[in-house]
Amino acid sequence: MTSKLYLESDNLRMTTTVISSTPDEDGRFRTCLAETLFHPQGGGQPYDVGRIGTASVLGVFLENEEVVHITDQQLPCGEYEIEVDADKRQLNTRMHSAGHLIAAVGEQIGWNAIKGNHRPGEGRIVFTPGSEGIAPPEVHYINEEVNKLVAQALLREQHITDGIRRITWGELPLYACGGTHVPRTDWGGGVVIGNVKFRKGQLSVSYELAQPAA
Ligand SMILES: [Zn+2]
Repeated sequence: MTSKLYLESDNLRMTTTVISSTPDEDGRFRTCLAETLFHPQGGGQPYDVGRIGTASVLGVFLENEEVVHITDQQLPCGEYEIEVDADKRQLNTRMHSAGHLIAAVGEQIGWNAIKGNHRPGEGRIVFTPGSEGIAPPEVHYINEEVNKLVAQALLREQHITDGIRRITWGELPLYACGGTHVPRTDWGGGVVIGNVKFRKGQLSVSYELAQPAA
């Protein structure tokens, strides 16, 4: 089984071993590694792209705990340098981390975060009310509170117990999560809350990233 180094490391490049590479039905190849830095699609976060040797990594999926890299070339077993595309990773990491901060702000005022989409252009966190009749928050409230957490430059903390990684920043609650996370809440810049809608018992908060500081 692939060792999932993306859970414990922010590194984007290393040397590791291809253990299998087999054709799929679409004329591409399913390549597995001894260890990987590539984050697979999951938990609302898109997959990383990049390369294994000279092969492009076009998609990464978790299948029965195995990380499958979809590559455009078949790779004989052996050692390769692997490299995750830094720009796409940074974008995904910031989007995913912003989702955590929005969830934390909603939960502080009595809403339970139940799901999220962290795809660029589709950022959204969905909550249910923690008690009957609580009023949905205003856009500007969430915007202000989330960006306060950003400005506080809270440091990431992670704990791995019994193979489960829990993550937080500063004193925020711990979440069990397999995504990639900014090392400090102000890493890359702030968050812009788009709109807040309450419909059919669910509160939906959309968001995007503020332009990174120059
Ligand atoms: Zn996460």
